[in-house]
Amino acid sequence: MAEDSRASLLARCRAIVGASHVITDQADMAPFMADWRGRYSGRGLAVVLPLDTAQVAAIVTACAAARVPIVPQGGRTGLVMGSVPDLSGDAIVLSLRRLNRIRAIDPANRTMTVEAGCILADIQAAAAYAGMLYPLSLAAEGSCTIGGNLSTNAGGTAVLRYGNTRELCLGLEVVNAQGEVWDGLRGLRKDNTGYALRDLFIGAEGTLGVITAAVLKLYPAPRAALTALVALDSPRHALELLGLLQARCGAALTGFELMSAFCLDLVAAQFPDLPRPFAARHPQYALVELSSNESDQHAHGLLESSVGQALEAGVARDAVVATSQQQALGLWRLREHIPLAQAAAGKNIKHDISLPVSTIPDFIARADAALDQAFPGCQPVTFGHLGDGNLHYNVAPPIGVEHDAFLAHQASVNRIVHDLVDAFGGSISAEHGIGVLKREELARYKSPVELGMMRAIKGALDPLSIMNPGKIL
Ligand code: FAD
Repeated sequence: MAEDSRASLLARCRAIVGASHVITDQADMAPFMADWRGRYSGRGLAVVLPLDTAQVAAIVTACAAARVPIVPQGGRTGLVMGSVPDLSGDAIVLSLRRLNRIRAIDPANRTMTVEAGCILADIQAAAAYAGMLYPLSLAAEGSCTIGGNLSTNAGGTAVLRYGNTRELCLGLEVVNAQGEVWDGLRGLRKDNTGYALRDLFIGAEGTLGVITAAVLKLYPAPRAALTALVALDSPRHALELLGLLQARCGAALTGFELMSAFCLDLVAAQFPDLPRPFAARHPQYALVELSSNESDQHAHGLLESSVGQALEAGVARDAVVATSQQQALGLWRLREHIPLAQAAAGKNIKHDISLPVSTIPDFIARADAALDQAFPGCQPVTFGHLGDGNLHYNVAPPIGVEHDAFLAHQASVNRIVHDLVDAFGGSISAEHGIGVLKREELARYKSPVELGMMRAIKGALDPLSIMNPGKIL
């Protein structure tokens, strides 16, 4: 781009959002350029921070006229390098963080209208203040934004009961790639008026337009939430436990997370102050959460009798039911510290896969064996949202092998894992999205027909290809 066109675009951006909200200094831009995992940093023309939808529309219009790419950015906690620009230095990073107002809460309709830059934890708190629940929950909730959650169709720990972000959204406001505002902020649970445009923008990772606001679904706040950690012999026993709890507890079962023994070994080694609920080491653990709209007593009765049945039937080896909020938090911290313990222990090869729940035990057995044959002694770090069929099937190096040396085999490890995922009818991205990191894998596993339809949608909605180019496709 010629220097004078660049200068005139930046002048236009300053006129729209105010000079102090257009950052061009390299050092000041640096935090907006770095991938959350710290493995990559892009380069940008500027970081622009609009205040409202009208300013977003004006910035997109100006960028479209100048043919300048836009990288929408929320909390920058995405794990696939979707919210940072490439190395060309041509793109504007459009940070939505100043669009952070909660516009309305409608308790009778059980909806909340929020702007895209609202932090997820603030949305949860506002819902709780109104006596309700916004159930989306993930470890990055103190930093990620609802615009990012929607754009990645984030999952988290409550999908089993409430669905992922797509299922928690009724309406959207979007600035399209031409700079027009689409007001789709409808709080309707039924609306069959043609193509589901909302669902196109959800999960599009900023490649089709900029989400500026959303109508979210709220739920009655549960009266009680209880947590248990159950020790198990194998993933197959975890699957049996899941079936038993679903049959007995129905919608009261709100969380079911699987963690292998190696995951808790890592956590114990890196965070020795965290609780160690069992004296013995067990091959697998399930973290179970039950919510009740009746009472604490009801939840306790249901959880204890269900876990008791699992122990009697030989499905479970041992169990701890948290008797206080403090204890429950301690058990959840074990789960939440797995990624942190992995990062502290060194680099590993990550996968965010989903499979039909019924196939998970077979998948784990086959993938563990295939990897061990190819890379003897490598250490799968298997955990995730078993209730949703979503595993974070990560692979750490064999003891004694340098982490960087093992990472050089990433492509071969991915091939083993993703080929098996494909053979089991699964997906190579359950909840993190595609971004740049999985773009080539997507091209490998999607059919030409599916890729062709995706490209047609992209071409129709963003003909100049200015919206987050190079991501997904
Ligand atoms: P960003 O990282 O800023 O952006 C993500 C993508 O969305 C990018 O492609 C960006 O261009 C686009 N985007 C952002 N805002 C907009 C907008 N307003 N309009 C259009 N496009 C936009 N994810 C899960 O699903 N489940 C988990 O359990 C989970 N746990 C995590 C734990 C940790 C510790 C971390 C660091 C991340 C975790 N994630 C998880 C991933 C991440 O938090 C989610 O992907 C989150 O939804 C990203 O939100 P963000 O605001 O940080 O988005």
